Amino acid sequence: MELIDGKATARAIKQEIKSDVESLVSAGNRPPHLVAVLVGHDGGSETYVAYKIRDCEEVGFKSTLVRFEDDVDQKILVDKIQELNMDEELDGFIVQLPLPDQINEQEIIEAIDPAKDVDGFHPINVGRTVIGIPAFISATPFGIIELLKRYRIETSGKHCVVVGRSNIVGRPISILMSQKSINSTVTVAHSRTKNLEELCASADILIAALGAPGFIKSNMVKEGAVVIDVGTTRVPSAETKSGFRLKGDVVFEEVAQKCSFITPVPGGVGPMTRVSLLTNTLLAAKRNISG
Ligand code: NAP
Repeated sequence: MELIDGKATARAIKQEIKSDVESLVSAGNRPPHLVAVLVGHDGGSETYVAYKIRDCEEVGFKSTLVRFEDDVDQKILVDKIQELNMDEELDGFIVQLPLPDQINEQEIIEAIDPAKDVDGFHPINVGRTVIGIPAFISATPFGIIELLKRYRIETSGKHCVVVGRSNIVGRPISILMSQKSINSTVTVAHSRTKNLEELCASADILIAALGAPGFIKSNMVKEGAVVIDVGTTRVPSAETKSGFRLKGDVVFEEVAQKCSFITPVPGGVGPMTRVSLLTNTLLAAKRNISG
């Protein structure tokens, strides 16, 4: 069994991005600039945005945090997005989700200029991803594909089972896995799927993205399969300062005995999700430079 080390892979990609930024800047360009819009004070969102800003600093990007209180109304947020859309001093921006109940999240996503939508959530980017033309691919599926490529995992003709069909993970990764460059034969499973155990056990590549800690056990995994664990559920822990730890959808200890490759949680897909936002922002900056 080979451990797919997302942390080390993300570190290597960050180095590549950093040297690209150095070349751009020494050629007289400003550094890539990412803006993060954060609404309210949700602990998870605060942490994710802080990581994104730290990541930007590490690779030499400029970053700006724009904050709103929980009670912000839709119009103020849309107006801000329109201002960011027009701002030539930034390359891309994200609006950290989830948003408070009074905000229509889909309308916010659709207000973002697709050319600056480095999260890849705008329907234009989703659609371009589906038909396989250049797009900002959303961070988690992008990170998973990058891991498969960098570990030279054979995907062509393989049966890939994706458990989960959300717009941010299950659906887009299932589409990417079926594309011509990847060539897997894909089955998408969800909460209404029958015979899930047998289905998972028929997978050459199993991507678990359901958010149910420890759901995938060894009887659901074929000998020699590749297992990608996207799940990150916070569970209470007496061993950490924060009082919780992240648990994946896969029972790592037993599944690792059976498979050929596996991602750990933490340290697998998570770091790749973070670095993919940087990759998209760099792409946006390069597009702006080349006009
Ligand atoms: P989500 O929106 O809640 O979607 C979960 C999907 O799993 C749904 O399609 C649901 O089916 C399906 N599902 C739930 N229970 C199931 C069961 N018992 N059997 C079969 N299918 C089941 O979650 P998400 O946003 O995609 O996230 C999934 C997990 O990935 C979470 O743990 C999340 O924290 C994690 N995540 C990690 C990263 C990372 O960077 N590592 C990034 C994003 C998300 P229905 O559609 O039928 O309800």
